[in-house]
This record gives sequence, C-alpha cells and structure tokens, in this order.
Amino acid sequence: MERLLVLAHTEGDGTLGRPALEALNAAAALGGDLTIGLVGEEAQAAANQAARSGAVRFLAAQGPEFAQPRYVTDAAAAEALCRAAQAQVVIAPGTARWARVLPGVSARLDGRVDTHVTAIAVEAGALAVTRWYYRQRMEAVLSRSRRPWFILVDAGVAAPWQGEAGAARVESVDAAIPEIRTTVSGVRAPRSGEQTIRPDADLLFVAGAGWTKKQADGQTHLPEAEKLIAGFLAATGASLGSSKSLVDLAGEGQAVLSFMTHLNQVGQTGSTPRHPKGLAACCHGEEPHVVGWRFINQRRAINLDPNCGWARGKADVVYVADAFEVIARVNALLEERKATSGS
Ligand SMILES: Cc1cc2nc3c(=O)[nH]c(=O)nc-3n(C[C@H](O)[C@H](O)[C@H](O)COP(=O)(O)OP(=O)(O)OC[C@H]3O[C@@H](n4cnc5c(N)ncnc54)[C@H](O)[C@@H]3O)c2cc1C
Repeated sequence: MERLLVLAHTEGDGTLGRPALEALNAAAALGGDLTIGLVGEEAQAAANQAARSGAVRFLAAQGPEFAQPRYVTDAAAAEALCRAAQAQVVIAPGTARWARVLPGVSARLDGRVDTHVTAIAVEAGALAVTRWYYRQRMEAVLSRSRRPWFILVDAGVAAPWQGEAGAARVESVDAAIPEIRTTVSGVRAPRSGEQTIRPDADLLFVAGAGWTKKQADGQTHLPEAEKLIAGFLAATGASLGSSKSLVDLAGEGQAVLSFMTHLNQVGQTGSTPRHPKGLAACCHGEEPHVVGWRFINQRRAINLDPNCGWARGKADVVYVADAFEVIARVNALLEERKATSGS
C-alpha cells in the first residue's frame, strides 16, 4: 500500500470532528502505513483521540496562527505536513476548511485532487475512488497514477472511527507561513436564529410552498404553518429542507417562514442531503426537487393532491391528507409521548 496521510484540522475545542473521524476510518480500512497530519492551535488532544487508529506517525502544524481557518496558514500547514510525511495519497474530510485549501496545495505539490468522494477502495491492487457527476446523476469509479493524490471525502459516507483515546507522540512540523494579511474577526451566523440544517439527523423534513397557499377556508395560515413546522422540528430533531418555490417567496417580498433560507433548498439547484428517512409536506414532488432526494432511503410525503409527483413513483408512502391536520396531530402525539416518558 502507498504512503497514506490523513489530514485533519481540529475543531474549536481542540478535538477531531465527525467528518475527520469518518475520513480516518475510510483511510484506516485501506491498510498500510498511516500517518495523521493535524492542524490546529493545539494538536495533542486530537492526536490522543486517534491514538489507537493504527496510525504509525502523528505530525502536527500547531500554534495560535492555525486556530482559525485562513487560506494562507492552512495551505502552508497542509503543504508542510504532506512534505514531512512524503505522502503519496492524502485523505481529508471534505469540510469547508479543507475544500477551500487542498486543491491549491495539490497544485503546489504538482499532484491531483478529487473532491466529493463517496467511497475509497483498493481494486486489483490499485486505489480507486467513487464520486458523482452532473448533480448526482452519474456515478464514476476512477483511479489516478499521479502522486500526491488528494482525496476529499464527503461527510456522512463512512462511519466515524470510534476507539478509545490513548497517548500519541506528536511530532511538530514547521510550516513556512508567508505574510498574514487576513484577520479572522468573528463568525457571522446564518440569518435564521435557529440552526435548522442538521446533517446528522435521522429524518429530513421538507416543507413546500403549499404551507403558504390559501387553504380550504380561502385564507393563508402562515403563523400556524410556522408554529407547526417549528414544533415538529423541535420534537423530532429533524433537519429542515425546502422546495425552491418556498425559499424563493422570500426573494419576492412575500411573507415566508422566518427560519427558512436558500441554504435549506433541496434539489437540482439546491442540496442533496443524506438521511435515512425523508418526509415532505405541502411539496409537489417535481423532478427538479426530487433529484435532491437521491440519498434519502425511505421517502414519505403528505399532499392533498393524489396526483402529485410523489404519488408517481417518487415516494414509498404518500398520505393524501391535509398537512396542517397531520402535523398538528403528530406534534400532539409527540408531546404526549414526551409527557408520559418524562423526557
Ligand atoms: C432549472 C430548474 C431548477 C430547479 N431546481 C429546483 C430545486 O433545486 N429544488 C426545488 O425544490 N425546485 C426546483 N425547481 C422548481 C421545481 O420544478 C418546482 O417548481 C418546485 O419544487 C415546486 O415547489 P413546491 O412543490 O413547494 O410548490 P408547488 O408546486 O406550489 O406545490 C405545493 C403543493 O402543496 C400542496 N398543498 C397545498 N396545501 C396543502 C395542505 N394543506 N396539505 C398538503 N398538501 C398541500 C399542493 O397540493 C401542491 O402539491 C427547479 C426548476 C427548474 C426549472
């Protein structure tokens, strides 16, 4: 097996986040000599976390300048770690921090990079990666002869590495940092006060434009819709998705659900989240939306229209019903269950 380097950055608390542990597990499964390269203010806690992963070396570019994501420092750190490890294959989690930096680092080292990788395997003695193209419509398995080969693994495709912490011996690596002209002054959170996108949730709940439409009484019921959806999310811990029509309404100046942004949009021009289950309510299930459900295993929908797109082979179960009534009843049942279980 080739010389493998897992590149990981620490989180705010100094530990490795789930995407890093997933990339580590994917790399460890390949066998061979594994080195872990860490970037962060203090790398010892993260190294200890991965001490029993089978890694033979722990390298770290550490110090206050690596605490915050910033191209110039992250690229210098990653480059120094790759050189120190003499890595042929570099496996990293596809976090925003690495996705921004590693293609540039691969160019500096005259290597190649593949992003959004969903599987890594050794086939007929050669390393091969799987990734999707054309907005998840085509899947390809490819390998490369050029080294170093940088592989950014998508979050959620591998199980996280789990093992007891130990005591790792960390070797510090000096990174040649050029002039730093970027100061990280703070974090600006999304407009919505509440975090509604939860990649780790078991359930994706998609709200469609139907929540804003006139209902049987000839009136719209936005405050009620907002309360029902927020109640459902709070009780289930589901991640909130949306159709394009619903998020676009905000741009047209109409009243819309306050916690919904374009980041929630699922579909051809939105996201393709991964969850075991999905439930759509008041969403028509048109093809440009449903292509975003490629990685949702079990699909259900609530729609008044028995001829909606979901009923045409796009969902496993369609409840032909009023979503306002269904979600109100579900919320009440969840509330009852919570009261009886005392949790
Ligand atoms: C190039 C292109 C890219 C696109 N990309 C995307 C994309 O990424 N994501 C996306 O979502 N769309 C995308 N679209 C738009 C897509 O085609 C649809 O227009 C959009 O998904 C429709 O949103 P909707 O189902 O919420 O709204 P509508 O089509 O208005 O459907 C509302 C539904 O709510 C139901 N309803 C109303 N009241 C109730 C109730 N009380 N109970 C139950 N059901 C009720 C109605 O029966 C109806 O089916 C794209 C379109 C194009 C052309």
